[in-house]
Amino acid sequence: MNTAQIPVAMEADVVVIGAGPGGFAAALRAAREGASVVVIEKYDMPGGVHTSGLQGAANKGVGGIHSELMERFDREGAIYTVTEKELPGWAGNPLSHYEWYLPPGSPFRRSSFNPDAAGNIMSRMLEEAGVRTCYGADFVDVTLDGRGAERSIREAIVETASGRQAIRGRIFIDGSGTSEVVARAGAPFVRGGGRQPETVRQDGCSRPIPGGLLWIMSGIDFARTWSYQERENDATLAKLIGRARADAAIPDDLYRPRLECDGVYGRQYIGHPTVDMSPIQGPGTFILWQNVPYEWNLHMDDDGEHASRAMREMRRLIDAEAKFLVRYVPGFEEAFITHVGRYTGVRDGRHPIGEYVFSIDDAREERRFSDAVTNPMTKTFFWDAYRKYSFEVPYRCFLPKTIDNLLLTGASLSFTFETIFMVMRNFPWCTQTGEIAGFAAAESIRQGIPPKDYRWSAPMF
Ligand SMILES: Cc1cc2nc3c(=O)[nH]c(=O)nc-3n(C[C@H](O)[C@H](O)[C@H](O)COP(=O)(O)OP(=O)(O)OC[C@H]3O[C@@H](n4cnc5c(N)ncnc54)[C@H](O)[C@@H]3O)c2cc1C
Repeated sequence: MNTAQIPVAMEADVVVIGAGPGGFAAALRAAREGASVVVIEKYDMPGGVHTSGLQGAANKGVGGIHSELMERFDREGAIYTVTEKELPGWAGNPLSHYEWYLPPGSPFRRSSFNPDAAGNIMSRMLEEAGVRTCYGADFVDVTLDGRGAERSIREAIVETASGRQAIRGRIFIDGSGTSEVVARAGAPFVRGGGRQPETVRQDGCSRPIPGGLLWIMSGIDFARTWSYQERENDATLAKLIGRARADAAIPDDLYRPRLECDGVYGRQYIGHPTVDMSPIQGPGTFILWQNVPYEWNLHMDDDGEHASRAMREMRRLIDAEAKFLVRYVPGFEEAFITHVGRYTGVRDGRHPIGEYVFSIDDAREERRFSDAVTNPMTKTFFWDAYRKYSFEVPYRCFLPKTIDNLLLTGASLSFTFETIFMVMRNFPWCTQTGEIAGFAAAESIRQGIPPKDYRWSAPMF
C-alpha cells in the first residue's frame, strides 16, 4: 500500500485497535495511568462480542475494571437476574445453554446484561477517562519503521467516512479479537480453526471451533414451552423438529446432531434450538445461538468469501429457526425477532506467536513464571473433563515476536488453541488482559521504552 499520501488524522501515546473487553480495558487503564489514548472500533460502541455480538453474560467481578463494569451495569439497571423462581423448568432444561446440566428443579442464579445498555455505559466510561474514540473506523493496515528482526509500528491505517487516514502512535495494542494488527504488521501467527484435541474418552468428539451469531427473540411464554416439554416428554423438541422436517418446513442443515461427549461442544454445547441464558432484557426475552456448522469449517477472520458466506448462511438459519419456533413450539406463538448481533463472532481466530506461547502443558504442569501477570488462576479447560488446573500466564504472552511496540490482549494473546476454552477467551479474563496491556503501555511510555523492554515484576490480580 502506498501510504505516503494518507493524511495523519490523530496522534497518541497509545493506539488501541478494537474495543472489545480487551481493547476497552486497555484503553481505559492506559488513559487512567496518564497516557493519551485513541481507540479504533469498527462498530458504534465498545464491548465487542459482549455488546455488538449480544453475548451479555454477567459474571461475578474478578477485580479491577471487570468488577467496576459489573457494578456499574448493575447500578444503572442494565443487569437482569433470574433464578428458578422466575424461570421454573430452566435448570436441567436442554434448551438452556448454561443450566441444562444441573439436576432439574435445582437452584440457579443467572445474570445477564443488556448489551446495548452496557455498550452505552462503556462508551461513557471511555469518554470520562479522556480516551478519544474513532467508531465506524475499519483498521486496514499499518506502516512500519525499521528493518530486520524487530520493527515498530508507526501508524494504524483506518477507513472511515472521511476516507483513508493514518493514526500515529508510540505504542499499539491489538484488541481486535482476531489478531488483525499482528497479521497486518507481518508478525508471526498460527491460523485459527484448529481441531480440539480428542477428549479423555477418545470418542471422536474433536471438532474445529465454529464462529457464532447471537440473536434475540421477545414475546416467549416459556412456562408454556416447559409445560409442553413435560407433558409430551419432549425435552429437546425432537418431536416438533421431526414434524417440521416431515412438513419440509425447515432446512436440513438447521438441526445438527447433539454432541454427547465430555469435550468442547460436547456436554456444554447442544444442538438447535438453544434458547440461551436468562431472559436478557426482561421476562419473555431470550438470546438464541446460531453456531456456524462444524462441517463448514469457515475462517471468517482471514477469508473474505468465508466471512460473506457466514453472514449469508447465519441469516438464513436464523430466519428458518424463528419460523420453526413460532409455527411449531408452544410458548413461541407470539414471539418475534428483536435483534440480531452485529457480527458473527470468531471463537478461534489467529494465534500470534509471542515471546512466550502459553500451552496446555503450562496449565497441566502448573508452571510458574517470574513475569506472571496474575496470581495463580484455578480454572477448568473444558476439553479435559472439567478438571481444575492452577496456572499462571507470563507477560511475554502479551508481546508478539518481531514488533517491539505492539501489545496483545484478549483473544489475541499468544496461546495455543487448545487453551481457548474456557480460560483464555472469557469476558473476565479478556478484560484483565486489557488492563494488564494498558498498564504496561502506560508504564513503557513513562519510562520511554518499548513494551518489550518493560520488566513485569508483580502480579496485577
Ligand atoms: C459467538 C461467541 C460466543 C461466546 N460466548 C462466550 C461466553 O458465553 N462467555 C465468555 O466468557 N466468552 C464467550 N465468548 C468469547 C469472548 O466473547 C471473546 O473471547 C472475547 O470477547 C474476546 O475479547 P476481545 O476483546 O479480544 O475481542 P472481541 O470481543 O472480539 O472484540 C474485538 C473488537 O475489535 C473490533 N474490531 C475487530 N477488527 C477490527 C478492525 N479491523 N477495525 C476496527 N475494529 C475492529 C470488533 O468490532 C470488536 O469490537 C464467545 C465468543 C463468541 C464469538
